[in-house]
Amino acid sequence: MNGLFHNLQGELRLNEPLSKHISWRVGGNAQHFYRPKNVQDLAVFLAQLPADEPVLWLGLGSNLLIRDGGFAGTVISTSGTLQQLDIDRQEVNAEVGVYCGKLAKQVARAGLAGTTFLAGITCTLGGALAMNAGAHQQ
Ligand SMILES: Cc1cc2nc3c(=O)[nH]c(=O)nc-3n(C[C@H](O)[C@H](O)[C@H](O)COP(=O)(O)OP(=O)(O)OC[C@H]3O[C@@H](n4cnc5c(N)ncnc54)[C@H](O)[C@@H]3O)c2cc1C
Repeated sequence: MNGLFHNLQGELRLNEPLSKHISWRVGGNAQHFYRPKNVQDLAVFLAQLPADEPVLWLGLGSNLLIRDGGFAGTVISTSGTLQQLDIDRQEVNAEVGVYCGKLAKQVARAGLAGTTFLAGITCTLGGALAMNAGAHQQ
């Protein structure tokens, strides 16, 4: 499938061991593994991905177990990328790869409330949203 892609700036790997990317360090390979360079690159990649390709989004991998048979599809990794974080007065804009600890710290430093509970959760923002992460009744 990698021959089908054009104009990518991220990293496309074949048969990538997912055990390297999840906390439990177990599980088989991903047929295709993509780490986009940025949001624009992600859009270029998704536009070229076959419509029937199974996709698994991966954050920090702290809440995932991969079976030994691996994943027959494309894993899109957002860890270590998509980490733009802008705080302007009352407005916070964060991409999905931002680490929750960093988000909590930066938002608190800017004098804003609402994300402190994320400080102790091992996650990316995307993983937190997908899992509806919470702590301390928040
Ligand atoms: C020590 C420890 C303590 C924890 N404490 C808490 C806690 O207090 N509260 C709590 O809620 N959880 C806790 N967790 C669980 C875990 O950290 C959360 O579920 C977290 O939200 C997972 O984020 P992640 O980035 O690691 O996601 P991953 O484990 O990579 O993915 C989890 C799920 O989210 C999906 N996903 C990830 N990124 C995206 C994306 N960008 N778009 C769409 N889907 C996406 C994945 O496909 C998968 O289904 C803890 C885990 C550990 C290891």
